[in-house]
Amino acid sequence: MKGIKDPRLLPIAEKVEAGERLTFAEGLVLYETQDLPTLMRLANRVRERKHGHKTYFVHSIRVSQTNICYVGCTFCAFQRRFGEEGAWDWDVEEVVAWVRARYQPGLTEIHLTAGHHPKRPFQYYLDLVRALKESFPGVQVKAWTAAEIHHFSKIARLPYREVLQALKEAGLDAMPGGGAEIFAERVRKRIARAKVSAEGWLEIHRTAHELGIPTNATMLYGHIETLEERLDHMDRLRRLQDETGGFMSFIPLAFQPDGNQLARELGKREFTTGLDDLRNLAVARLYLDNIPHIKGYWATLTPELAQVSLDWGVTDIDGTLIEERIVHMAGSPTPEGLSKRELARIILAAGRIPVERDALYREVRVWDQVEA
Ligand code: SF4
Repeated sequence: MKGIKDPRLLPIAEKVEAGERLTFAEGLVLYETQDLPTLMRLANRVRERKHGHKTYFVHSIRVSQTNICYVGCTFCAFQRRFGEEGAWDWDVEEVVAWVRARYQPGLTEIHLTAGHHPKRPFQYYLDLVRALKESFPGVQVKAWTAAEIHHFSKIARLPYREVLQALKEAGLDAMPGGGAEIFAERVRKRIARAKVSAEGWLEIHRTAHELGIPTNATMLYGHIETLEERLDHMDRLRRLQDETGGFMSFIPLAFQPDGNQLARELGKREFTTGLDDLRNLAVARLYLDNIPHIKGYWATLTPELAQVSLDWGVTDIDGTLIEERIVHMAGSPTPEGLSKRELARIILAAGRIPVERDALYREVRVWDQVEA
């Protein structure tokens, strides 16, 4: 590859070209280098080798059945206590009615994540999956982070495997990747002390994969973590993926600095910069050689940066997200939903091929043009 300004990138470029796995030390070089054009080209090389110009999005609705939560993660602006202003807590029928009111033909995914409600029994969650599957046949239910599965396991006094098996039998199709935050103990203690441990998170995903439930994986960055801790996070995901192959995508989520305790403690008001975000995506694309997709989640990146990220390793910009609330309650200034047409337009304008997919990354439609 010509034009490499940082000599440390030369052997890395050779390995990328040969399709060889990068080491931890090489991952750190990617985080440190100032040769951003080369970093971008390397990530794009891998992206195009894996998926050509294809760029995926999904027609999805985001639902949170409650924002009541007892866990108290310091980065979270979504949680509420019982009776607190802005708290909600829906019955199964209310969730179904909420989705029905917003249902659009062609919807393929219902994405459910919420607070850890201290009183609902496990049966409620089984009923909820079943009701959604019956009310919206053909729509896939992607529900509950590993942190929530851990909570269900505690309230039901059942091992992870039995919880996941019961949810699968109720109709669960896939799991989102949240609750991972940053695996390093030092950071986890400060930002998510009462949440499932890193080991628990990985064990739940391992079990889900063994049961044939595909999942995603996230990383919350841009707060107090070091670059080594980011890479350690990816390294643990890469090792689990070697074992199971069950991760469909990796989604870096930038810390949103509004309305949460961590931002107040840190006196932090700034969002990550665009280049932080792009670098992080590119490093993920290069380091996570065994995870099919890197997602540039437009709701935190902004649609504009998500479009640019398609040159930095990204092959998925998530979806229509009808009424996303979690990152918006933490200050994300992006719209609470985009149309399929708008997503396809952004992708086409970047010279890529928009592919509408379902929750399992099966192709639904290739948008080779956008109607006026
Ligand atoms: S991130 Fe999730 S588990 Fe943590 S406080 Fe917020 S809603 Fe609760």
